[in-house]
Amino acid sequence: MKKTALITGISGQDGAYLAQFLITKNYKIIGTDKIRLKKNNWRIRRLKIEKKIIFEKMDLGKISDINKIFNKYKIDEVYNLAAKSFVKESFTNPLETANITGVGVIRILETIKKKNSKIKFYQASSSEMFGNSLSKSQSEDTKFDPQSPYAISKLFGHYITRNYRNSYKLFAVSGILFNHESPLRGEEFVTKKIIQGLIKIANNKMKFIELGNIHSKRDWGYAKEYVVQMWKMLQQKKANDFVIATGKTHSIKDFIDISAKYLKLDTKWVGKGLKMRLINKKNNQVIIRINKKLMRPSEVNYIKGNIKKAKKMLNWRPKITFKKLVKLMIDEEKKLRASYLKKPYLKIQ
Ligand code: NAP
Repeated sequence: MKKTALITGISGQDGAYLAQFLITKNYKIIGTDKIRLKKNNWRIRRLKIEKKIIFEKMDLGKISDINKIFNKYKIDEVYNLAAKSFVKESFTNPLETANITGVGVIRILETIKKKNSKIKFYQASSSEMFGNSLSKSQSEDTKFDPQSPYAISKLFGHYITRNYRNSYKLFAVSGILFNHESPLRGEEFVTKKIIQGLIKIANNKMKFIELGNIHSKRDWGYAKEYVVQMWKMLQQKKANDFVIATGKTHSIKDFIDISAKYLKLDTKWVGKGLKMRLINKKNNQVIIRINKKLMRPSEVNYIKGNIKKAKKMLNWRPKITFKKLVKLMIDEEKKLRASYLKKPYLKIQ
């Protein structure tokens, strides 16, 4: 029988890829967002799956919105991907972050508990919850040390999911996903900013990019592979939390170096700390500089996932390496954004 999946945050990066994957598994998909705007659907349109999704408005801040959707459809699986997900923004908007990214989770869990406790629930937890963990790699058992309103809100969502699983026997799981990127990543995120900026610089359409801390290290994987693991978690016999990562870590500086090389920019780093700059050797121009204002008030410096459990129980094997990921993002960006390369000189930043 055809299953019905509710994906919250359908217009985000993961929502689009997850919908694409579940369509191949013959699911009926209800995709929800805070507001229904056509322009939000650019990812769904790019994947050419717009006609295969039933779109609904469901603000995670409004219990009435959630009730309406659960009354209207017979849902089998819920993938809660909606969140205020940009970490730096959570410092300027902590209340909304807590209300949506944190308390929003309990609004859904309560609805499931009251309406149909057979509905399976996936919560999008995040490696940001580990914060400045001192361990060499982070597993499901590593102590959390969140460093931002985003991470603290995600930790609330994580624990309340576990609490509803233990207290009310719901099939409720958390996927602790480490950074995952793709050509569908939002422009506010550093990877996309670097790629778009360097492509413009390589085409003389921009002078330089400004970045915050380029030394922080992340475990980066490919979003399209990660969403499959969300589904696998809900197909397990027993509800369980999993870390999904690659098990390798790289700095933002590494991301820049690989991107610049792939774009055939001959570059060198000069200076230290806030004075550090990336120079284009061809014309001696500064193409990347550091701006203190772009740093988070409280940084996460190093994260690397320990994927033993997912390897064993989900047969998780990440295929796209860090280098491949950078290249596929650049190739896709060049193809899709060919139009902005034709425009006359763009304003810096
Ligand atoms: P994303 O692109 O930012 O998507 C988040 C979605 O949530 C957007 O569609 C957003 O809509 C929606 N949303 C925001 N406020 C809402 C509200 N009040 N009610 C309903 N929907 C709302 O994030 P993503 O990269 O796809 O990530 C999916 C989930 O995984 C997020 O929860 C994120 O925090 C988590 N996660 C992501 C990563 C990663 O590296 N990508 C890693 C770990 C965990 P608008 O755009 O209209 O605001």
